[in-house]
Amino acid sequence: MQAPYKSGLQTWAHVARWTLLGTLICAIVSIAVNLTLFQGLDNEARLRALVSAVFLPAIFAFPLFLYLGFRVRGLEMVNRRLSFIARTDSLTSCLNRGAFTARIEALLAEAPENFSGALLMIDADNFKAINDAYGHAMGDEALTIIARSIRAALRTGDLVGRMGGEEFAVFLPKVDERQAARIAERIRHCVNTADFNPEGRAHPLSVSVGGAAFEDRTSFSALFRIADRQLYGAKKAGRNFAAIVHVGDAPDIALRQPA
Ligand code: GH3
Ligand code: MG
Ligand code: MG
Repeated sequence: MQAPYKSGLQTWAHVARWTLLGTLICAIVSIAVNLTLFQGLDNEARLRALVSAVFLPAIFAFPLFLYLGFRVRGLEMVNRRLSFIARTDSLTSCLNRGAFTARIEALLAEAPENFSGALLMIDADNFKAINDAYGHAMGDEALTIIARSIRAALRTGDLVGRMGGEEFAVFLPKVDERQAARIAERIRHCVNTADFNPEGRAHPLSVSVGGAAFEDRTSFSALFRIADRQLYGAKKAGRNFAAIVHVGDAPDIALRQPA
């Protein structure tokens, strides 16, 4: 679900390619210089000059490029790891709020005018009671189960982020209102039937889901406001409930902001 970090020297094949290419370029430059400098010499001397022009880069440039490739690859791997950590919520492995928001804003900015989709806001129900009854560590365990259940209900290409605390968001590209409602219901069901057994006793988890579905590209902030309002409605309706609306049916919210 996460966008891969892209760089040039990630694999040993890359390192080998750059090492050979660097050595080859050094050898070619060295041969060209020798041929120019020793133009007037006899064949024997020119042959020796050519051999040294190939031999020296092979001895010095090859290990140098190999060493540099090795070090750069190490830095690339660290960079990749740091980039992953910067985008990921460490408890649930979802995108964190900043990364999720940035991904959706970029996706909406690049999408065609008639791009459809939905944003779901998901909040765990009565979560404070879980912490109070079983402790914070068990609360953390419940959050990981909720995140896993949400992911299990999604399709490839859907995005899930932890927006903070016990609140998650899901972006569903290319769905209409009915499909979004079906996926929201699947999320609700998956969480509600997940196994959570603190102190050996089953404790059902539940989430409320608010959603905004759109058929023409709109802004993330408009979707967020509508989905959040729907989430509030789902809580008022008794929790463990999914309330999805089409942005066109959502009252008094500025919808068609430039994406
Ligand atoms: P509601 O159904 O209205 O959403 O009730 P709620 O209890 O879920 O909502 P409330 O906002 O009262 O409480 C949220 C709780 O979530 C309080 C906070 O301690 C807990 N929480 C937030 N983040 C974490 C976390 O990372 N780990 C744990 N264990 N608890 C967390
Ligand atoms: Mg809650
Ligand atoms: Mg909350």
